[in-house]
Amino acid sequence: MNTKYIFITGGVVSSLGKGIVAASLAKLLQSRGLRVTIQKFDPYINVDPGTLNPYEHGECYVTDDGAETDLDLGHYERFLNVPTSQSNNVTTGRIYKTVIDNERQGLYLGKTVQIIPHITDEIKRRMTLLGKSGNYDIILTEIGGTVGDMESTPFLEAVRQLQWEMPDGDCMVIHLTLIPFLHAAQELKTKPTQHSVKMLQQEGIKPDVIICRTEVSLPEGMKKKIALFCNVKADSVFENQDAKSIYEVPLLLHSQHLDDVVLKKLKLKNVPQPNLSDWQDFLKKLFNPKTECDIALVGKYVELQDAYKSIQEAFVHAGTSNNCKANVHTVHSEYLTGSNIKEKLSSMDGILVAPGFGGRGVEGKILAIKYARENKIPFFGICLGMQATVMEFARNVLKLKDASSTEVRPQTTVPVIDLMEDQKTLTTKGGTMRLGAYACKIKEGTLAYRIYGEKLISERHRHRYEVNERYEKQMEDAGLILSGRNPETGLVEIVELPQKQHPFFIGVQFHPELKSTVMKPHPIFVNFVKAAVKYRQTK
Ligand code: GLN
Repeated sequence: MNTKYIFITGGVVSSLGKGIVAASLAKLLQSRGLRVTIQKFDPYINVDPGTLNPYEHGECYVTDDGAETDLDLGHYERFLNVPTSQSNNVTTGRIYKTVIDNERQGLYLGKTVQIIPHITDEIKRRMTLLGKSGNYDIILTEIGGTVGDMESTPFLEAVRQLQWEMPDGDCMVIHLTLIPFLHAAQELKTKPTQHSVKMLQQEGIKPDVIICRTEVSLPEGMKKKIALFCNVKADSVFENQDAKSIYEVPLLLHSQHLDDVVLKKLKLKNVPQPNLSDWQDFLKKLFNPKTECDIALVGKYVELQDAYKSIQEAFVHAGTSNNCKANVHTVHSEYLTGSNIKEKLSSMDGILVAPGFGGRGVEGKILAIKYARENKIPFFGICLGMQATVMEFARNVLKLKDASSTEVRPQTTVPVIDLMEDQKTLTTKGGTMRLGAYACKIKEGTLAYRIYGEKLISERHRHRYEVNERYEKQMEDAGLILSGRNPETGLVEIVELPQKQHPFFIGVQFHPELKSTVMKPHPIFVNFVKAAVKYRQTK
């Protein structure tokens, strides 16, 4: 069987949840026994989203192979429970960079290099790359941006060409649009959808399926009207009504037979019905929690909902596996002070100190860690959160008052967190961090060992700074347990307090949130929530 391609475009507005729809459809196809992956093509000129501010684009998601990618890849992994890679996220910047590098290498033999065919050929090469591996039956490709944007035109042209080149049934296009509900008139409106399909048709693309994001359910008559005006079959218009949880979307789409229509269009016969029982069990637990707990998420990017996406989702998975609703309360680290810390944190059952870059907000994070340590509140620090844990310990336990990270205070006399020597000469920014999966060896008898139940683990990284070897002995002597290390370099990966001293206190240099999925909640999050529930009961 040829690899089949599903392209997903978006119309009317951005933020319609194309990533969730792509992940949900992929989930349905996967649960019918097909080998599926999802890729995202983003129309911006950055070579990757690694250099984008979380305020602009939400969290940067890191894959095992060290690619800094769009946060939608996180959804793909959380839904499918299969890792993605560099090839799953391509930007306009990366396409142009390849073409320009090729041009400089003399690959185009005196030709004028143009959008068509050179840029579109490179887009098509990337769009079909994963398909050539033979590992997948179906590849879903989400086209970032909105139809009509100048930026996404070359992507749409590439889709048009692929649709034209491929045999019938090997390729289809799903268009996701918005049906606004006008509250004043109490009416749903189809006009923006009609316009956006028209725009897609101007690019030479005829969608096979239309999925309508809507606040309220669409009457059958309206679906028929959309089908007629947008030139798709009557059974090919679906609604994507606002759901209680993103994880409900696969079931909502399945109940309308989206997967059947897609399989028919792709000429795939005799595909078994999906087995969604594990997914349904998860949802049942998610919607019927037996208990709850309050977690403070202390960070500086709290204004934007998407900045800590993976952490938020990891709490959904971990909470559910504990039959608990973990209420995550964001706390702005920049505004935490000695005088308001109690008011902000005393009602919490667990404190998570978030990753981050730069010095802003770090002092507040250190205060939160001190509060968690002294009051024996379950604590979990991630990346910068772990580095701040080391700073806090050095300052308040070792009494090294000037202890800091050279990222936060370059002139510190006690750099407990520092760059490694070979990093100090780097001047470029993109892709210069420790990125992707690295092994970590865990000391037996520690909290980390209790959590993972294994001696060798692998987790994803995204950072420049490291625990400074010079201070390790001093900290260990004073009671900080360095319970995880990179087996090759010896770099510190996990720090914790003795379990006799504190019920749950752990900081990790890596990003466990990136590996939490619905079917495999991350063990640190699971145990952190468990500790928070226990703490709440003893309060
Ligand atoms: N800014 C820190 C570093 O670069 C931590 C990064 C992070 O939290 N992801 O090492």
